[in-house]
Amino acid sequence: MTADPDCLFCKIVAGDIPGDIVHTGERTLAFRDINPQAPLHVLVVPRDHEPNAAASAHADPEMFAEIATTARAVATAEGYDDYRLVFNTGAGVGQTVFHTHCHVLAGRPMTWPPG
Ligand code: AMP
Ligand code: ZN
Repeated sequence: MTADPDCLFCKIVAGDIPGDIVHTGERTLAFRDINPQAPLHVLVVPRDHEPNAAASAHADPEMFAEIATTARAVATAEGYDDYRLVFNTGAGVGQTVFHTHCHVLAGRPMTWPPG
């Protein structure tokens, strides 16, 4: 699967709806979360539509690794050495957009375990 016409993040990838884009890669895109939960809150997404991290990792392991390196590049560019990566996987743990995305969060103290 490459694009889902009903998917919000596919529309951002296609440029059909605007995103505050901070990084453009061949296979990934990173844009600021519309409802930031930290001073840095960026979403790194694959351009190809898959519903969650596990599906993306299965479909394209190299691209999935690129998500992690893109996340580091974004955090570094914004001046953060320390950051948290989150892949909500499934509605039961809070996934609301079913296009794989990695939350990159930084810039405030964070507790563990997460809420
Ligand atoms: P999740 O709950 O893990 O599925 O995360 C979805 C994220 O997408 C949430 O943090 C939302 O704030 C974010 N979001 C929803 N719509 C947009 C949008 N148009 N542009 C950027 N981020 C969005
Ligand atoms: Zn999509």
